[in-house]
Amino acid sequence: MNRIELLAALTKGSTVVCDVGCDHAYVLIQAIKKYGVQKGYAIEVAQGPLENAIHSIEASNLTDKIIPILSNGFEGVSNEFDTAILAGMGGILICDILEQSFSKIETKKIILEPHSDSAKVRSFLMNHHFKITSEQALMDQGKYYEIIVAEPGNQQMDVYDILYGPLLRRNPSPIFVEQIDKKRQLILDVLPKIQELDRRGQKNKELQELSSLLEYQGMEKHFIQKTQNYYRMYFVDNLQRPTIFVAPGGGYRYTSPRESEPVVAAFIKQGYHVVVVNYRETIADAYPKPGNYLAEALHSIRQDKRIGKIIGLGFSAGGHCILEMILHAPKYCVDSKIDLLILGYPVITANKENAHLDSFKNLLLDKQNEQDIRDYLSLETQVTKENAPDLFLWGTYTDESVSVMNSLLLIEAYQKVKANVEYHMFPMGGHGLSVANSLSAEGHAEKNQPYIAKWVHLAFEWIDYKLKNSF
Ligand code: SAM
Repeated sequence: MNRIELLAALTKGSTVVCDVGCDHAYVLIQAIKKYGVQKGYAIEVAQGPLENAIHSIEASNLTDKIIPILSNGFEGVSNEFDTAILAGMGGILICDILEQSFSKIETKKIILEPHSDSAKVRSFLMNHHFKITSEQALMDQGKYYEIIVAEPGNQQMDVYDILYGPLLRRNPSPIFVEQIDKKRQLILDVLPKIQELDRRGQKNKELQELSSLLEYQGMEKHFIQKTQNYYRMYFVDNLQRPTIFVAPGGGYRYTSPRESEPVVAAFIKQGYHVVVVNYRETIADAYPKPGNYLAEALHSIRQDKRIGKIIGLGFSAGGHCILEMILHAPKYCVDSKIDLLILGYPVITANKENAHLDSFKNLLLDKQNEQDIRDYLSLETQVTKENAPDLFLWGTYTDESVSVMNSLLLIEAYQKVKANVEYHMFPMGGHGLSVANSLSAEGHAEKNQPYIAKWVHLAFEWIDYKLKNSF
C-alpha cells in the first residue's frame, strides 16, 4: 500500500472528512470511492493546489461529494466533520494549524502524516489530550513515512514514545527496525572521525540507546527536574517486581555505559526490573546536585506500581553518590530510603590518604579543598546503625584506581555500629569491571573475568536471602 492509499484506508469508519492541505485531493477521492466516506472537504491555502483538487474531483465525478475550500487551515471551515487529515506537511506547521482552530478539532479523529518533527506532533497530542490509537511506518518510493491516528483521550508518553512513537516502538515492524538500523549505521560511520572524548561518549550513548530500544521495548526514559539528567526504566513485564536501582560510576564526570546496559542485561535476565540513573549529564552541577538527581529519580520511580522493593546498586563514584544520598537522607528532602544496597568497588572516603582525588575534584569543583565538606563526604564517618542499609560489597584487592581501602574503611564503620555487610574481595583484576563479562568488557580482554563475574550470582543469592528473611 502506498502513502495515499494508506491515508485513505485510515478514514474507514468516518463519515465526513476534512483534508487540510489536500493538494490533488487524491486521499479524499480514494476515501470516498473505497472506504465508505460520505463527504469530504478539500482544504487548500494556495490557489494552484486548490485548482489541482478541483480538476481531480471533477475527473472522478465527485463534485457532489467533495467540496473544495480555499482556506488557511480550518479557518474557512464552518461545516461539521468527524475526521481531519493533515498530511505531507512539516510537524510544526501541523501543530500550528491544529492549535489555531483547536475548538474545531478537539473532539475529532485526526490523521497526521508529518514530513518532519514527528516528536513535536506527538508531544502536542499528549499535551492537548489526544491519544494515539494507531501508528504506521511505511516506505513509499524509497522514502520513510510515519502516519499517526489520534482520538480524544489521555495518554502518558515517555521520551522514547515521543521520539519514536508509542505504538511503533513497542511493536516494531521490519520497516521501523530498518529505520533504526539506518540511524545506528549513521552513528557508526561518524564515530571514528570524532576526536573529542565527550562528543564520542555522547554518540556511543545514542548508539546504545537505539540498540536498547529494539531489545527492551518497554524501556522508558524520563528527564529529572527539567535538566539534562535522566533515568531509564527497563521492565521484565507489567508485574510488581524487586527493582535494581543503578548509579553507574564515572568519577563524577560522566556515567559509565559499561555500568549501564550490561548491568541491565544481567539483572533483567534474573527477573528484576532495572532503573539506570544518569545523574551526571550536567557536570557543572557541583555537590549536592548529583545526589539530588538520584533522590528525585528514586522518588519518581516509587510512584510506578510495577516497582517493588528497591535494591540500590552503585559502582565506583556512583557508589559514593547513592550511599551519600542514603546516609544523609533528610537533607535530600524526598524519601531516599532503599531496601537493600549493593556496592561495587565504591569511592567512600574523601580523606586525602585514600581518596579517589578526581571524583572529589569533579564533585566539589571550587570547594574541593574545603576540609569540612571533605569530612562530611568521607562516608566511613557518617555511618550509624539507623542509616546504614544492609550491604553487599565487592571489589578487587588490586584495584589501581579506587584503593580497596575505601571498602575496608566502610566495613570498619559498619562493624563499629554492628550494621550488616557481606563482602567479597577478589584477589585479582582492576577497577571498573562492572559485571565482568564479554558485554561489559567492550573488547578489553582484561575486563572479561569469569572468576570475578561470580559476584553477580552471589548478589542474586544475597538479594533472595535478604528479601525472604528481612521483610
Ligand atoms: N496532503 C497532500 C499529501 O499528503 O500528499 C498534499 C501535501 S502538500 C506537500 C502540502 C499542501 O499543504 C500544499 O498544497 C500546501 O499548499 C498546503 N498547505 C500548507 N499550509 C496550509 C494551510 N495553513 N492551510 C491549508 N493548506 C495548507
